[in-house]
Amino acid sequence: MTTAKEETILELKNVKKYFPIRSGFFQRKVGDVKAVDGVSFSLKKGETLGIVGESGCGKSTAGRTMIRLYKPTEGQILFKGQDISSLSEESLRKSVRKNIQMVFQDPFASLNPRKTLRSIIKEPFNTHHMYSMKERNEKVEELLARVGLHPSFANRYPHEFSGGQRQRIGIARALTLNPELIIADEPVSALDVSIQAQVINLMEELQEEFNLTYLFISHDLSVVRHISDRVGVMYLGKMMELTDKHELYDNPLHPYTQALLSSVPVTRKKGAVKRERIVLKGELPSPANPPKGCVFHTRCPAAKAICKEQIPEFKEAAPNHFVACHLYG
Ligand code: SF4
Repeated sequence: MTTAKEETILELKNVKKYFPIRSGFFQRKVGDVKAVDGVSFSLKKGETLGIVGESGCGKSTAGRTMIRLYKPTEGQILFKGQDISSLSEESLRKSVRKNIQMVFQDPFASLNPRKTLRSIIKEPFNTHHMYSMKERNEKVEELLARVGLHPSFANRYPHEFSGGQRQRIGIARALTLNPELIIADEPVSALDVSIQAQVINLMEELQEEFNLTYLFISHDLSVVRHISDRVGVMYLGKMMELTDKHELYDNPLHPYTQALLSSVPVTRKKGAVKRERIVLKGELPSPANPPKGCVFHTRCPAAKAICKEQIPEFKEAAPNHFVACHLYG
């Protein structure tokens, strides 16, 4: 496990990503889907920050906004101190794209079926005019070997590989330009459990070897617990809680985190401990029409009158333990 260092590599300040809802013949805007709604946190070089939450909580949109696949509606994204939130595509390509890469959930969908692994993996070299033809081919074979695939596979096509192998190809492609930060969006959730462990182990080895920083997005609390240094919990586009993983899993403060973790056995030295199960009432509200006040109040077992009116601030309730809830302060 890496030790989080002090240098901040990525910082989000009140980042919002809204998608307009349009209706009628003139496609007038009638509202917004608030996929990410005021998220702030920072990521230290060399650490792994896990982001968890139910499907539809905005974690994938947040990841895509950080890498600027989406332009934020509001807020700042600082990569190594540079505000990249409003950079043009050309400036992003020159200054940021090499340093931040993404690994997707479905590697097959992100690999062009008509291209060999060689052309898929060396494509970024072509785009950035790096290396001679011979060196590019050598680099592709080195990368394949490094992710546990035989270099001779370079001339094969994506459909010839299993899900786990395809994810290794996706990781090799992400490493091509020697990035500093990798945003991994549900990278193992489409894989069998035994294959998941292999891919996670590979990601940990690569992190050590290449001094990578990971933002690891997943709905799977056990996987996130294994790989992360710190964990953030998202609900309906907002960050609800963020702290060191041991603190989060042993002492969750936010009622939503407590409910999520209540279904997961907690492994301590003495063995597995099961918390009392907290079953949340109702469905996840729509991000097109989020509840007023605390967005979790419609399902929260601890909701008070103030929760329906006032949005709780995301603040430090204990050292390095941030939470957005009126129960704390
Ligand atoms: Fe529950 Fe209120 Fe805290 Fe929201 S602010 S999580 S509704 S107690």
